[in-house]
Amino acid sequence: MATLCIACGMPMEKAEEFALGDRSRNYCRFCARPDGKMQDFAEKLKSLTAFIVRTQGLTSEAAQEAAREMMSRLPAWSGK
Ligand SMILES: [Zn+2]
Repeated sequence: MATLCIACGMPMEKAEEFALGDRSRNYCRFCARPDGKMQDFAEKLKSLTAFIVRTQGLTSEAAQEAAREMMSRLPAWSGK
């Protein structure tokens, strides 16, 4: 059964999809810093905004809104 990343909602099944390839972590490699710690809210908002601009062609303002909206539904960021 897949584990959902608490920070972006991506389903993780293979070990390499987990941060540092460690299945005991509850966030994915895209949400990890190079040292393996989870990115903070500002870092994730920035990378998710850039991802949305790239994949959906929104303006950065609209993409940031969409990113905030997506993140507000994820356990890592509830209440932010
Ligand atoms: Zn993630």
